[in-house]
Amino acid sequence: MNKPIYLFLAWALTAPAPAVAAAPPVVVSVKPVHSLVAGVMEGIAPPRLLITGGASPHTYSLKPSDARALAQAKIVFVVGGALESFLGKALGALVQGGRLVELATLPGLAPAGRAGRDRDSMDPHIWLDVANAKVIVATAARVLEDADAANGRRYAANAKRLSARLDGLDAELARIVAPAKDIPYVVFHDAYGHFERRYGLAAAAALTVNPARPPGARRLSEVRRAMVAMGVRCAFGEPQFRPTLIDTLIEDTAVKVGVLDALGATVPPGPDAYFRIMRDLARAFAGCLSG
Ligand SMILES: [Zn+2]
Repeated sequence: MNKPIYLFLAWALTAPAPAVAAAPPVVVSVKPVHSLVAGVMEGIAPPRLLITGGASPHTYSLKPSDARALAQAKIVFVVGGALESFLGKALGALVQGGRLVELATLPGLAPAGRAGRDRDSMDPHIWLDVANAKVIVATAARVLEDADAANGRRYAANAKRLSARLDGLDAELARIVAPAKDIPYVVFHDAYGHFERRYGLAAAAALTVNPARPPGARRLSEVRRAMVAMGVRCAFGEPQFRPTLIDTLIEDTAVKVGVLDALGATVPPGPDAYFRIMRDLARAFAGCLSG
């Protein structure tokens, strides 16, 4: 027996049989949604996260490596709507042979936003309602089963388990947030409508609708007046944007400062990220408003 063949046989006898078929390359735009897809793909392959760290999808600019990942992906999950404005019209061209899934247009999502507030478009922060997270999970499982039948039963089993975990999270979040109900606050950008509607919170005002366009001095003084008139207890900033605006806003008032992070800037990506992001958000509301 010559050496290469011998080595090959030795490898073939000792290597474990592959446990799962290779999964198609999957790309997801933002961390909370990536986490849900990673939960569906757990034990098979991790999806790629496009916007990492503390970056905001509202102001992100695409890197060449991102464009390559999008071109090579078999499935791309984005929220769509106004969220990933950096992808814009280029998205269709960037996703070359793959399937593009825009989650904001899924049927079965909870209606966006609060009653009585004017909106020119839907609120794209859809993952902030756990019921929507369950719709995203079911959709991801279906799309993955379609593209990768060999792992179909694993995706379905993961999705079922994840959905049950999400029911538990929903009840937990309602408990955490309960003491904060009906206490007025202001937010940096109008991102929390889905969360607020589900758990009975309501922002008195948002500094800006579009965080890519920071508020000017006039908007700041408008919101300051509203804060005083409405007895606002907290002003929430975000790690993705300049905190100095919030400091200016609350200067010489008794209003407290909190931080809301809908994207989990410092949370490690993966199947547990969604749960941590949502718990942190609930605690941030409750901690500042009822503390
Ligand atoms: Zn946003």
